[in-house]
Amino acid sequence: MTAKIISGTDVAAAIRQECRGRTEILQAAGTTPGLAVIMVGADPASAVYVRKKIQACADVGIASRKYLFPASANQDDVIDQITALGADPDVHGILVQLPLPAQFDIKAVLSAIPREKDVDGFHLYNVGGLVIGDTVFPPCTPYGVMRILDFAGVEIAGRNAVVVGASNIVGKPMALMLMQREATVSVCHAKTRDLAQFTILADILVVAAGCPNLIVGPMVKSGAVVIDVGINRLPDGRLVGDCDFESVSRRASMMTPVPGGVGPMTVTMLLVNTISSAEQSVAIAGQGTAPRARRPADAGLAIS
Ligand code: NAP
Repeated sequence: MTAKIISGTDVAAAIRQECRGRTEILQAAGTTPGLAVIMVGADPASAVYVRKKIQACADVGIASRKYLFPASANQDDVIDQITALGADPDVHGILVQLPLPAQFDIKAVLSAIPREKDVDGFHLYNVGGLVIGDTVFPPCTPYGVMRILDFAGVEIAGRNAVVVGASNIVGKPMALMLMQREATVSVCHAKTRDLAQFTILADILVVAAGCPNLIVGPMVKSGAVVIDVGINRLPDGRLVGDCDFESVSRRASMMTPVPGGVGPMTVTMLLVNTISSAEQSVAIAGQGTAPRARRPADAGLAIS
């Protein structure tokens, strides 16, 4: 078997086209969606991610603002800035670029973001909403994976899904989203004994561990759908995922590549969450009803 390659770049392009339509409707109603990005320190990788997010906003008509603090910044000053943005009606999403310098208490900073502007979906309220299957801002990377699965027409209910990786930003919310769609979900992590005994049962295998070549062909069920979230830079400069692409793509029926798979979706889902927040603010302000109908792919995930 040779896997059909699912291009996250193509899925992201289709979703961005939808985003442009939604921002046009909002603008016609007098609201431009706004995203504020806060970065502390000068981590080069973070600077690249922030630049990409700002460019992506411009691409779909979201107004973005960037707030840069030095690595020596006082945590209270950053929290004061977040509080001010929380009260600013032109800002619909607030994002704090991680990682923060070591002296920062990440939980304290993230919980300063009002939940209705938490477009990264890291606020405890949004995490809790995910647990009970309520409507929240879904964290962008797993949300992007769900949209890829839907775009590719993958049946989720009743299938065995295995998530390799249990981080707060990818693995755990991924498992919850798959459970919400009625998959039978197993979560593996660094202390899992005999990883292959789990992965071989997966109809849907999502790998987010940050270990190149962690998953090789014989660990994959024939015909499985494999989503490789991992991004690893090899010593020779190549960017690879967590799966050995060659052997896994011979077992899987569908697979995402690295690069060009989940990566382009993460930033795109940030745009989707920011626009959803703006739509919600318009509805709450009573300027009209929410100016779009929910689409099936958003059901149970977007803000109601
Ligand atoms: P993380 O916080 O380091 O978490 C890694 C998870 O993988 C942990 O739960 C860890 O287990 C588990 N793990 C590590 N080694 C393992 C092994 N040998 N077998 C099984 N599980 C193992 O990383 P993350 O932020 O979730 O990111 C994971 C990967 O996805 C990274 O490569 C990252 O660059 C990539 N990523 C990509 C995107 C994107 O847009 N494509 C977005 C975010 C992250 P323990 O919990 O036991 O330590």
